[in-house]
Amino acid sequence: MNLSTSIEKISGIGPVFQRKLKKLGIKTIQDLFFHFPHRYEDFSNLIPIAKVKINEICTVQGKILEIKNSRTWKKKMTLTQAVIEDKTGAIEAVWFHQPYLTRVLKKGDYIFLSGKVVVGNNRIYLSNPAYEKVSSFKFQVSSLAHTGRLVPVYPETEGLSSKWLRYILKPLLINFKNKIPETLPEKIIKENKFLPINQALWQIHFPASEKLAKAAQKRFSFEELFLIELFVLRERNRLAKERAISFPLNLELTQRFVKSLPFKLTDAQKKSAWQILKDLEKDRPMNRLLEGDVGSGKTAVAVMAALNIIKAGWPAGNALPARQPDGSYGGERSNAGWQVAFMAPTEILAKQHFQEVAKLLSDFKIDIGLLTGKQDQFRSKKLKNEVIEISRKKLLEKTLNGDINILIGTHALIQDKVKFGKLGLVILDEQHRFGVEQRAKLVKESRIKNQESRIIPHLLSMTATPIPRTLALTVYGDLDLSLIDELPKGRKKIITKTVNLGERKKSYDFIKKEVKKGRQVFVICPRIEGNNFEEENNLSEAKLSWAKVKAVKEEYEKLSKEIFPRLKIGMLHGKMAGKEKEKIMKDFKNKKISILVSTSVIEVGIDVPNASVILIEGAERFGLAQLHQFRGRVGRSKYQSYCLLFTDSPAQKTRERLKALVDSEDGFALAEKDLQIRGPGDFRGTRQWGIPDLMMGSLSNARLVEKTRESAKEVLQEDPQLKKCPALRERMGKFRERIHLE
Ligand code: ADP
Ligand code: MG
Repeated sequence: MNLSTSIEKISGIGPVFQRKLKKLGIKTIQDLFFHFPHRYEDFSNLIPIAKVKINEICTVQGKILEIKNSRTWKKKMTLTQAVIEDKTGAIEAVWFHQPYLTRVLKKGDYIFLSGKVVVGNNRIYLSNPAYEKVSSFKFQVSSLAHTGRLVPVYPETEGLSSKWLRYILKPLLINFKNKIPETLPEKIIKENKFLPINQALWQIHFPASEKLAKAAQKRFSFEELFLIELFVLRERNRLAKERAISFPLNLELTQRFVKSLPFKLTDAQKKSAWQILKDLEKDRPMNRLLEGDVGSGKTAVAVMAALNIIKAGWPAGNALPARQPDGSYGGERSNAGWQVAFMAPTEILAKQHFQEVAKLLSDFKIDIGLLTGKQDQFRSKKLKNEVIEISRKKLLEKTLNGDINILIGTHALIQDKVKFGKLGLVILDEQHRFGVEQRAKLVKESRIKNQESRIIPHLLSMTATPIPRTLALTVYGDLDLSLIDELPKGRKKIITKTVNLGERKKSYDFIKKEVKKGRQVFVICPRIEGNNFEEENNLSEAKLSWAKVKAVKEEYEKLSKEIFPRLKIGMLHGKMAGKEKEKIMKDFKNKKISILVSTSVIEVGIDVPNASVILIEGAERFGLAQLHQFRGRVGRSKYQSYCLLFTDSPAQKTRERLKALVDSEDGFALAEKDLQIRGPGDFRGTRQWGIPDLMMGSLSNARLVEKTRESAKEVLQEDPQLKKCPALRERMGKFRERIHLE
């Protein structure tokens, strides 16, 4: 048996439990060892029975004098009562709803009991104590698993109790005592005075003291970050060795584009564009994240880069080189018609980009295709800016032979069927919405397409979610960052207000007035109860989106029948057919609808300048960064705009959190605050790294992040292939699998 032995081989884990463990991603003994508790129950107060105190948690050790089940009269529930005796006295123990206990625990058994001592009916007893049967009084306390010590409590998962995990883990850990190879380099352990791995693994599961539990956590917090750092740094190194086409900056073209814009670029836009254009000149693939608050104008910057790719090396007279047998114009051999793939997270956004990009490039004779999920929605933007519907087959053909310069779409772009003749640049909008896996797939697919030359397209990701610094250095650490930290001039500040239950009517009246003035309104409905990522994860994707649909439908009914019976109200949610969604968005843009009730589908990028109010129901259920995104849907024109945060929550903490939004327009500050208040698990993209709950906090610990990064750099500098650290290498391999990059 070794660390990679499958859990199926462990005695005591039957098929049912195997399935449950696999759901948690636990497949091997190693996975099991690295499934950490998220807290401990302190049952270490072991005392003689005579010393027990009311309302205190304690552990006693004794012999069962009697044990029996009975039914209560009033509530019809089964009580199990036992009397336990040691040399100093006897105490009663009572369990509820666990009749099977009389089969497990028998008169004469020696047991440890841990729990709270309470008073009831004029007697004192241990209420629902944890129990652990032992063979005799002489039992070593240190070998206990469930009582009499710091007892590990694992994150709850349906059907997998902490007790069961302890029962499985303990003998396994004993079996592997001193046999687990060290992952961290000797030097790092010494420098930081970390517990060596064997000790640390034991102490994280079955700590001998709080101090040792902390010491183990410290080591593994470092280790988790260290692995991430190693991974992203190696990813960087790996990419640096790949080849990409170098696209020289076409200054004349770029200037012409800038002049053609109906606005003046901000300095931040210029600086970001410059960084991107400089990256494109290199013959290794760009991997850059363009970060900018909603409305900061990321699209224009991306389009500037796209233009340089499309027009690069285009021969005079637009003549294309000879076509290859496979229909393409052949990898490196020709230098004409380089293409751009532009991927958006939703159909609505893809459609909007299609229009926006076409508008921005209207002077440049560029053919743009739109490809979304459904058969009948393929269009091509041809010369003279007319939109033509074409069949999927035709669109794919044109993509392969290079007639399409920019193909815009949703996830549909990563299907195997979609083949580019010469893909030079991939743009991902709101990239955090795509998993690392999908990101890798797009790049990999394109590599296959250019197989003979092994050329990787440049990658530009964009996000409006500000990434706190510690995350930029860890989970996003493989990316170079460009920042648009300034909004175009003349934007009016959006007035933000929290609205309590009692003030709703006033707000609705206000909305009526705005609509009368010709403005439009977004109403965002929360997800279901509790917006916690973990809770969400327990619901299946499908269930979750249905729950959202229900909330939106109810709100829509209420608003259109009771509150605004005379206004035109529309509804938008993720379960609607693409065509239907499109129609609603079109009607809203064309002002046929005054109030749009929606789920968070409108969160990113939707552009309706005439909308001046956004009302968010159940605002407390969203993160600050996300609320800030919603707010960015309004304030996109000369009209004064408003963001109304509806909350029925009386909790002081909620109010404080929402107040941060009222006070601040700075997306970055809000994201940092989110990280502090809600933890990193809320940031999309952090969960897939599989960081144990207990270590999640370290992702917001700037000092630890810096330190691990430095250590990882040092180690890689000396030993890029990690040849000297086989165990570390092995774990890196597993790590890759875990985040699905292989
Ligand atoms: P985001 O960064 O949220 O994707 P967009 O690229 O959609 O922002 O731009 C938001 C709006 O601002 C668009 O209508 C765009 O045309 C406009 N815009 C972009 N840059 C500028 C600028 N420098 N000055 C004025 N308006 C701009
Ligand atoms: Mg955008």
